[in-house]
Amino acid sequence: MFESLSDRLSGVFDRLTKQGALSEDDVKTALREVRIALLEADVSLPVARDLIKAVQEKASGQSVTKSVTPGQQVVKIVHDELVHVLQGDGDPGALKIDNPPAPILMVGLQGSGKTTTTAKLAKRLKDREGKKVLMASLDVNRPAAMEQLQILGAQIGVDTLPIVKGEDPVQIAKRAKTAAAMGGYDVYILDTAGRLHIDAELIAQAAAVRDVAQPRETLLVVDGLTGQDAVNVATEFDDKIGVTGVVLTRMDGDGRGGAALSMRAVTGKPIRFVGLGEKLDAIEEFHAERVAGRILG
Ligand code: GDP
Repeated sequence: MFESLSDRLSGVFDRLTKQGALSEDDVKTALREVRIALLEADVSLPVARDLIKAVQEKASGQSVTKSVTPGQQVVKIVHDELVHVLQGDGDPGALKIDNPPAPILMVGLQGSGKTTTTAKLAKRLKDREGKKVLMASLDVNRPAAMEQLQILGAQIGVDTLPIVKGEDPVQIAKRAKTAAAMGGYDVYILDTAGRLHIDAELIAQAAAVRDVAQPRETLLVVDGLTGQDAVNVATEFDDKIGVTGVVLTRMDGDGRGGAALSMRAVTGKPIRFVGLGEKLDAIEEFHAERVAGRILG
């Protein structure tokens, strides 16, 4: 995660910290390089610009250049600003899944990793929080998607709603709700159908399911490798359906990391989890401090 951005930044900061005394111009030059590194990592332009501006304001004046370790001071300021960009107004806290059975709605484009993430999340809730979880696939367009979820459920020891042919997504959601209540489940996760692009039908279907299920959390799964596109997809889903959080998948790849950095600032929605591989335990909670630390190496 963030290897190339992290390499670039550590190059800049190594030079800065080794330099000893720093002039305002040295700091400016370094921040110009940081800005380029952020843009190359596909961070959106306004986000990169605001971040650099905030760092510049905090680093200017006497305190940094006159301090004993000016380079480290700059790094600390960049770190704090990264945390700020990554978590916005604050940590979103735990998922709102009290009051069983709590519905979680999973939305996203086809191929984003939605079904895999549904299983990863279910496994995590079961293993770490001892929750009794039910998963249901609402993907009536692709019968293979329903079977995929069933197979994943068997692998992780989580129940899936029995498949009934001929139902529409709203009917499946209603059946999942009843089954979750009758079966004493703590949480039920609805895996909606994805499409290659956001279109009217996808939105109408997700909205109809949302209205029936009244989800406590609506998690959007987006491919972290797609950079600014991931952020655009999130903005559109949030406008049309309303999401409470984002899961960024494929963060194990050599993606440039821009999606992670722009997501909160552009959409206002917290990143809840990151997917770090195909295995069903390859998911991590998103912590701004930890991620900022990784970016700075
Ligand atoms: P869906 O169409 O959105 O439901 O996507 P799937 O869950 O079927 O995932 C599509 C492919 O992406 C599968 O081969 C998954 O194993 C893979 N995948 C999902 N999440 C991750 C991730 O975090 N990292 C990697 N490397 N692969 C992932």
